[in-house]
Amino acid sequence: MTSSSSTAGRWHEMARALSFTGSALIDGKLCPAASGRVFPSRSPVDGRHLTDIARCDSEDVDRAVAAGRRAFDGGVWAARPPAERKAVLRRLAELIRSAGDELALLETLDMGKPIADSTGIDVRAVANCFDWYGEAIDKIYDEVAPTASDSLALVRREPLGVIAAVVPWNFPMLMAAWKVAPALATGNSVVLKPAKQSSLSAIRLGQLALEAGVPPGVFNVVPGMGPEVGQALGLHMDVDGLFFTGSTPVGKIFMEYAARSNLKKLGLELGGKSPNIILASYRDTARAARVSAGSAFFNQGEMCTCPSRLIVERAVADEVMEVLIETARGFAPADPLDPGTAMGALVDEGHTARVLGYIATAEKEGAHLRHGGKQVMQDSGGHYVEPTILDGVRNDMRVAREEIFGPVLSVITVDSVDEAIAVANDTQYGLASAVWTDDLATAHRLSARIRAGMVYVNCYDCDDLTTPFGGFKQSGIGRDKSLHALEKYTELKTTWISLA
Ligand code: NDP
Repeated sequence: MTSSSSTAGRWHEMARALSFTGSALIDGKLCPAASGRVFPSRSPVDGRHLTDIARCDSEDVDRAVAAGRRAFDGGVWAARPPAERKAVLRRLAELIRSAGDELALLETLDMGKPIADSTGIDVRAVANCFDWYGEAIDKIYDEVAPTASDSLALVRREPLGVIAAVVPWNFPMLMAAWKVAPALATGNSVVLKPAKQSSLSAIRLGQLALEAGVPPGVFNVVPGMGPEVGQALGLHMDVDGLFFTGSTPVGKIFMEYAARSNLKKLGLELGGKSPNIILASYRDTARAARVSAGSAFFNQGEMCTCPSRLIVERAVADEVMEVLIETARGFAPADPLDPGTAMGALVDEGHTARVLGYIATAEKEGAHLRHGGKQVMQDSGGHYVEPTILDGVRNDMRVAREEIFGPVLSVITVDSVDEAIAVANDTQYGLASAVWTDDLATAHRLSARIRAGMVYVNCYDCDDLTTPFGGFKQSGIGRDKSLHALEKYTELKTTWISLA
């Protein structure tokens, strides 16, 4: 046994010993759905049935929202001094770190990502997120407006009240943390709906929050289906804000829900089709290609910021392709529980079929398959697709226009910087983007011309909680992360005091 496989053996052993909780968490208690219904949680790693999850519906949503409202109105959390909320959130961060292996296993078993990513990226980032917003919250001051001296105008931030967070399955806990941490820090009550493919870590996070001292009713977790639980939250008359991460079509549905109900405040973090431009003026073409492929195949390509459109100047296109293929070889799918694995399983069978369908369509439309393209490891019972590279892609092909959310990299060759920018901006999305160049003026000019929330120059997916995250155009409304996120979870209130 190699040392990597013996460590894989340890993770497999821990996975066999792991117990799963599939209940809802409402008003501080684990409970079944009111209807008694459940749905199965199957692992994309090997198809194994992990547990049954409570299939909640509008009755459970009503109970969770009412619990959140009672807690909010009672002031058990919202009225606590910020320094006390900070202490609780920092304790939660510590509990997340202590339960790191368990939480990492839940993520990997539930949605298929490599265990090294779950431990090294997801769990760490989630703990850091609760720490950061906890730390921030007693350092933010409100304002006194510069009015005339016969009056005093106080501008204060107040929590919205009861907020709902609806999240996807690609970074289950992290996408939840980006919403739950700033929402709790600012004093809101939260109802979290995880994606149906990845409820386990959300439920565990809710339990840890209780253990850390978040009062019952302040953080509720209601698993279930989007058109049942998600819709009930979206249409609820007593939910003050709904913060969603997911696809653009479902984001639009949430706007309709808000319009049809109480005009609740919305935050939408949606899809992307991110352009990544490698110019001949960048001296280390190999590095650009290596990082680009690594970022495209990271997390099986199930990334809203996946640099899925690689736009390359013709002069360096051959060299780029060579390195892309070489890098893709290092992402051959393998056992997600092996710490040496770089690419794990896709989230489920339906998604796998969708990704393979895009590859077939691209070939029909005239793209050339340069690497991968096949489903592999079927014997495992899981869902694995090779890292796939297509070239000869035109920006009007479906693979260049629609979000695939899988390990498929499309290479588009261009003849000038202007053409690169035109192709980059020719998309309904505007989430992330990148430019590789050693020419400083070009770097500045292009980053100003690209219509996207994030522009990486000579890197991809640089990440820090201190920077806002979100998109232009149909990639969404509002920003997660950084102090800017706090704007979403608070209302400004002006109080005038006459001094006359
Ligand atoms: P979906 O939009 O399909 O689902 C996201 C969430 O919405 C899930 O909890 C889902 O429930 C729920 N939902 C689905 N349909 C409805 C409905 N009709 N009414 C109410 N709720 C509904 O996205 P995926 O889970 O497939 O995630 C992938 C998408 O997320 C990609 O488009 C990706 O780009 C985006 N994303 C964006 C990020 C960003 O920050 N911009 C970050 C990460 C992902 P159910 O689980 O039952 O389907």
